[in-house]
Amino acid sequence: MKVEELYQEIILDHYRSKHHSGLREPYQAEVQHVNPTCGDEVRLRVHLVGDTVSDVSYESVGCSISQASTSVMADLVIGHDVAHGLGLYEEFLTMMQGKGQIEPNEERLEDGIAFAGVAKFPARVKCALIGWSAFRDAIIQARAQ
Ligand code: ZN
Repeated sequence: MKVEELYQEIILDHYRSKHHSGLREPYQAEVQHVNPTCGDEVRLRVHLVGDTVSDVSYESVGCSISQASTSVMADLVIGHDVAHGLGLYEEFLTMMQGKGQIEPNEERLEDGIAFAGVAKFPARVKCALIGWSAFRDAIIQARAQ
Protein backbone atom coordinates (compact mmCIF):
# COMPACT_ATOMS: atom_id res chain seq x y z
CA MET A 1 0.00 0.00 0.00
CA LYS A 2 1.34 3.41 -0.92
CA VAL A 3 1.76 5.93 1.87
CA GLU A 4 -0.89 8.22 0.30
CA GLU A 5 -3.39 5.36 0.41
CA LEU A 6 -2.50 4.59 4.00
CA TYR A 7 -3.02 8.24 4.95
CA GLN A 8 -6.34 8.27 3.10
CA GLU A 9 -7.40 5.17 4.99
CA ILE A 10 -6.56 6.73 8.37
CA ILE A 11 -8.56 9.86 7.49
CA LEU A 12 -11.58 7.83 6.36
CA ASP A 13 -11.47 5.67 9.50
CA HIS A 14 -11.66 8.73 11.74
CA TYR A 15 -14.32 10.32 9.55
CA ARG A 16 -16.52 7.21 9.66
CA SER A 17 -16.25 6.85 13.42
CA LYS A 18 -15.23 10.08 15.08
CA HIS A 19 -13.45 9.59 18.40
CA HIS A 20 -14.81 11.48 21.43
CA SER A 21 -17.53 13.17 19.36
CA GLY A 22 -20.70 14.60 20.93
CA LEU A 23 -21.01 17.52 23.37
CA ARG A 24 -20.45 16.61 27.02
CA GLU A 25 -20.62 18.17 30.49
CA PRO A 26 -18.89 19.51 32.44
CA TYR A 27 -16.94 22.09 30.45
CA GLN A 28 -15.35 25.48 31.10
CA ALA A 29 -15.31 26.91 27.61
CA GLU A 30 -17.18 26.38 24.38
CA VAL A 31 -16.20 27.80 21.00
CA GLN A 32 -17.63 27.68 17.51
CA HIS A 33 -15.38 27.77 14.47
CA VAL A 34 -16.41 27.87 10.84
CA ASN A 35 -14.49 27.49 7.61
CA PRO A 36 -16.78 29.20 5.10
CA THR A 37 -14.70 28.30 2.06
CA CYS A 38 -15.52 24.62 2.58
CA GLY A 39 -18.60 24.71 4.81
CA ASP A 40 -16.92 23.08 7.82
CA GLU A 41 -18.26 23.86 11.28
CA VAL A 42 -17.15 22.71 14.70
CA ARG A 43 -18.59 23.46 18.12
CA LEU A 44 -16.07 22.38 20.72
CA ARG A 45 -15.94 22.22 24.51
CA VAL A 46 -12.95 21.91 26.77
CA HIS A 47 -12.79 20.83 30.39
CA LEU A 48 -9.62 21.31 32.40
CA VAL A 49 -8.82 19.81 35.77
CA GLY A 50 -5.78 21.67 37.01
CA ASP A 51 -3.33 21.54 34.11
CA THR A 52 -4.86 18.45 32.56
CA VAL A 53 -7.20 18.42 29.57
CA SER A 54 -9.76 16.11 31.14
CA ASP A 55 -12.20 16.29 28.21
CA VAL A 56 -12.62 17.69 24.72
CA SER A 57 -16.07 17.17 23.24
CA TYR A 58 -17.41 18.45 19.94
CA GLU A 59 -20.05 18.46 17.28
CA SER A 60 -18.86 18.88 13.73
CA VAL A 61 -20.21 19.01 10.22
CA GLY A 62 -18.26 19.36 7.01
CA CYS A 63 -15.75 17.52 4.89
CA SER A 64 -13.95 14.32 5.81
CA ILE A 65 -10.65 16.13 6.38
CA SER A 66 -12.06 18.61 8.90
CA GLN A 67 -13.94 15.96 10.84
CA ALA A 68 -11.16 13.38 10.81
CA SER A 69 -8.62 15.97 11.93
CA THR A 70 -10.81 17.00 14.88
CA SER A 71 -11.17 13.33 15.87
CA VAL A 72 -7.39 12.80 15.77
CA MET A 73 -6.82 15.99 17.80
CA ALA A 74 -9.22 14.83 20.54
CA ASP A 75 -7.37 11.49 20.73
CA LEU A 76 -4.04 13.25 21.13
CA VAL A 77 -4.93 15.85 23.75
CA ILE A 78 -7.44 14.26 26.13
CA GLY A 79 -5.80 13.10 29.34
CA HIS A 80 -2.60 15.05 28.73
CA ASP A 81 -1.52 18.36 30.14
CA VAL A 82 -2.34 21.64 28.46
CA ALA A 83 1.27 22.39 27.52
CA HIS A 84 1.51 19.06 25.67
CA GLY A 85 -1.72 19.79 23.77
CA LEU A 86 -0.63 23.29 22.77
CA GLY A 87 2.76 21.93 21.74
CA LEU A 88 1.07 19.43 19.45
CA TYR A 89 -1.09 22.22 18.04
CA GLU A 90 2.08 24.14 17.11
CA GLU A 91 3.62 21.05 15.58
CA PHE A 92 0.50 20.23 13.55
CA LEU A 93 0.25 23.87 12.41
CA THR A 94 3.89 23.86 11.27
CA MET A 95 3.31 20.65 9.33
CA MET A 96 0.17 22.02 7.67
CA GLN A 97 1.91 25.26 6.70
CA GLY A 98 4.89 23.36 5.30
CA LYS A 99 3.39 22.76 1.84
CA GLY A 100 4.16 19.06 2.18
CA GLN A 101 7.88 19.66 2.77
CA ILE A 102 7.92 19.03 6.52
CA GLU A 103 8.54 15.51 7.74
CA PRO A 104 6.07 14.94 10.59
CA ASN A 105 7.05 13.35 13.89
CA GLU A 106 4.97 10.16 13.99
CA GLU A 107 5.72 9.45 17.65
CA ARG A 108 4.12 12.71 18.67
CA LEU A 109 1.45 13.28 16.03
CA GLU A 110 0.40 9.61 15.63
CA ASP A 111 -2.58 9.50 13.21
CA GLY A 112 -2.06 13.24 12.68
CA ILE A 113 0.70 12.43 10.19
CA ALA A 114 -2.04 11.35 7.77
CA PHE A 115 -2.69 15.03 7.10
CA ALA A 116 0.88 15.66 5.89
CA GLY A 117 -0.32 15.06 2.33
CA VAL A 118 -3.16 17.55 2.77
CA ALA A 119 -0.56 20.27 3.40
CA LYS A 120 0.18 20.22 -0.35
CA PHE A 121 -3.32 21.55 -1.06
CA PRO A 122 -3.66 25.13 0.27
CA ALA A 123 -7.45 25.08 -0.08
CA ARG A 124 -7.70 22.12 2.32
CA VAL A 125 -5.26 23.31 4.98
CA LYS A 126 -8.00 25.25 6.79
CA CYS A 127 -10.11 22.09 6.85
CA ALA A 128 -7.38 20.20 8.66
CA LEU A 129 -6.78 23.05 11.11
CA ILE A 130 -10.33 23.92 12.18
CA GLY A 131 -10.59 21.50 15.10
CA TRP A 132 -7.09 22.32 16.33
CA SER A 133 -7.74 26.08 16.21
CA ALA A 134 -10.98 25.56 18.09
CA PHE A 135 -9.11 23.54 20.73
CA ARG A 136 -6.49 26.28 21.17
CA ASP A 137 -9.17 28.97 21.45
CA ALA A 138 -11.16 26.99 23.99
CA ILE A 139 -8.02 26.43 26.09
CA ILE A 140 -7.30 30.16 26.12
CA GLN A 141 -10.88 30.90 27.20
CA ALA A 142 -10.92 28.17 29.84
CA ARG A 143 -7.67 29.49 31.33
CA ALA A 144 -8.93 33.07 31.37
CA GLN A 145 -11.64 32.11 33.86
ZN1 ZN B 1 -13.36 21.14 4.64
